[in-house]
Amino acid sequence: MIELDKVNKWYGAGASRYHALVDVSERIAKNEVVVVCGPSGSGKSTLIRTLNRLEEIDGGRIAIDGRDIHGKGVNVDVLRAGIGFVFQHFNLFPHLTVLQNCTLAPVSLKRATAREAEATAMALLGQVGLAHKRDAYPSALSGGQQQRVAIARALAMRPPVMLFDEPTSALDPEMVGEVLGVMRGLARQGMTMVCVTHEMGFAREVADRILFMSEGRILERATPEEFFTHPQHPRARQFLSDRR
Ligand code: ATP
Ligand code: MG
Repeated sequence: MIELDKVNKWYGAGASRYHALVDVSERIAKNEVVVVCGPSGSGKSTLIRTLNRLEEIDGGRIAIDGRDIHGKGVNVDVLRAGIGFVFQHFNLFPHLTVLQNCTLAPVSLKRATAREAEATAMALLGQVGLAHKRDAYPSALSGGQQQRVAIARALAMRPPVMLFDEPTSALDPEMVGEVLGVMRGLARQGMTMVCVTHEMGFAREVADRILFMSEGRILERATPEEFFTHPQHPRARQFLSDRR
């Protein structure tokens, strides 16, 4: 359902141009859970940010369900509304309660009435274990709780695809598990997910496929089993041995 065809991306201009994505081609199937890993600066965030046009591309094509998302005439707001995105920093609206954070977009983008949006949000808050915090403000929640609200908020738009960019790397270690648990649950429900994460245990257990990036290229694509036991590319071997 997500197809990248020879995607290229440069940052900057002139002599300081940096080739951040180099001829990246990939297909991500419906219901697939893909973990993107690789060293810092390898282009992981750039890659997933091109999938909802938080970054523009300079060449190639990205299609979701056959539609060229970087093409002319694409409404970026509509595109983003259909793709859930969870960042390292949760960016909840501080002046809104947990429930209001989850109903704002569905109501303001007229996807649902206030009553429908509230029912959906409460179901999702239940799914992430936070129904009892519906009237709390983000500042009164732990980091792990805030990140779970951010996931519920993204899900409230009923996106067919969820993108995660290091959703646990800003959390205290004791809160990582609860967020990974929510992501694991989503994967089990068949959500199509692209996750940048350094949580190799999660990758091993939950991913259908691992993409290993280095210097703007996907150097290796493998099942977790293959990747963790027999990494093919020397850089992938180095990356894994650095984290043992
Ligand atoms: P990390 O693991 O540290 O998050 P990453 O794999 O997500 O790294 P990216 O953030 O995609 O890497 O960055 C890829 C390369 O592009 C890096 O060399 C980075 O310095 C460069 N880069 C990223 N954003 C910009 C920008 N806005 N302007 C210029 N260069 C950028
Ligand atoms: Mg990154």
